[in-house]
Amino acid sequence: MRIAIVGLGVVGASVARALALDGAEVTVFERRRPGGGTSGTSYGWINSHRKEPRSYHELNREGMAEHEALWGAGGDFYVRSGALEWAIDDAGRERLAANDAQLRDYGYPLEVITRERAAEIAGDVLIPPGVTEVSWYPGECYARPVALLARLWDEARDHGAILRCPVGVTGVEPLANGARVHTGVPEPERFDRVVLAAGRWTGELTRMVEPAIPMVAPEAPVSPGFLAYTTPIAARVSCPVVAPQLNFRPDGGGRLLMQALDLNAQATAGERSRPGPTFTAEILDRLRSLLRGGEHARIERVDLGLRSLPADGHTVAGLDDSGSVYILATHSGITLGPLLGKFAAREILHDEPVARLRDFRPQRFTGATAFPQLTPARQPGEQ
Ligand SMILES: Cc1cc2nc3c(=O)[nH]c(=O)nc-3n(C[C@H](O)[C@H](O)[C@H](O)COP(=O)(O)OP(=O)(O)OC[C@H]3O[C@@H](n4cnc5c(N)ncnc54)[C@H](O)[C@@H]3O)c2cc1C
Repeated sequence: MRIAIVGLGVVGASVARALALDGAEVTVFERRRPGGGTSGTSYGWINSHRKEPRSYHELNREGMAEHEALWGAGGDFYVRSGALEWAIDDAGRERLAANDAQLRDYGYPLEVITRERAAEIAGDVLIPPGVTEVSWYPGECYARPVALLARLWDEARDHGAILRCPVGVTGVEPLANGARVHTGVPEPERFDRVVLAAGRWTGELTRMVEPAIPMVAPEAPVSPGFLAYTTPIAARVSCPVVAPQLNFRPDGGGRLLMQALDLNAQATAGERSRPGPTFTAEILDRLRSLLRGGEHARIERVDLGLRSLPADGHTVAGLDDSGSVYILATHSGITLGPLLGKFAAREILHDEPVARLRDFRPQRFTGATAFPQLTPARQPGEQ
């Protein structure tokens, strides 16, 4: 089967890999560069925290299991590290306890451990005085998203997938049994199936497709997040740490990647958003209070990430009404990419509907005009 994929982020690379391994003839169209969308500016925490409703939690859990099945303990692109979280005030402790109770109820691996044990696990992380208990999520992992993408694409390419880049797709036109991909040349190219893996640009590509998928605009408060990378430092951090006011994790080569969710409120101009003048000083101060040797850290760069979010906040995975265009659009795409790629290949090549995707079909948008107000990720553990 000849299949076109639009977009080479982690989701496009995952589906290209799964389709190519299963014998499809795959051509990927990428307008900018591999990882030039949200996958190039992502935190890469692989988890199923605060992912509601239950079906979305389970999808993410299966996403975690798929990474483990593919990579085991991992390489530099994926690390099975576990993750730690604590709270410092009553409100925070209450939120964390409620979240842990919910996760326990779902059978999610977690342990509440002493600060001493947490300190042993975490390396040079300083747990604030007064914190006696820390939540430990041993099944969680992190990926360096661009390295993960490269790993996925290597396998796709080794199984015959072709990349056309930089080539922008201007439209996808469903036919009775196939679809045409328009790229601005006089003769659009026909494929047996087209997969849309275009992230936050999915809306513009579903103009000719039923149903169209509404996506959250980059200007919406829920979309942006700053990612601050340190210079290499000697401190050891062994896993993602979720502390009040700061998330941080190792990023290879001695660098740390940090997020301060409350400071994301400074991103008010969509793609043109820049951190405020005190951002760097503020985030470094927070790191210094949480890391032995953190005083040696400097900020190497700050990236702006813009989320790929369908208007109701949940994953879209499935064929359009014509049956020729498969739509994949999701937040948490680093956690979910390889699993969604596998599921899409099964549905496209073998006509086997995947029950796990039942709540995530594009058709829920048919005729929909009103969507819930999505709340920006500002509390510890949100992403
Ligand atoms: C700040 C932040 C933190 C995050 N943290 C996490 C996390 O901890 N864990 C997690 O699992 N997820 C996280 N995410 C979400 C995750 O990064 C995304 O869900 C994921 O990267 C989406 O991947 P994608 O391949 O669908 O989209 P993208 O990476 O955006 O890829 C889409 C590609 O399509 C191309 N494209 C678009 N239109 C066209 C066209 N017309 N023609 C050709 N090419 C086109 C683009 O150039 C782009 O390369 C985070 C996101 C942000 C912003």
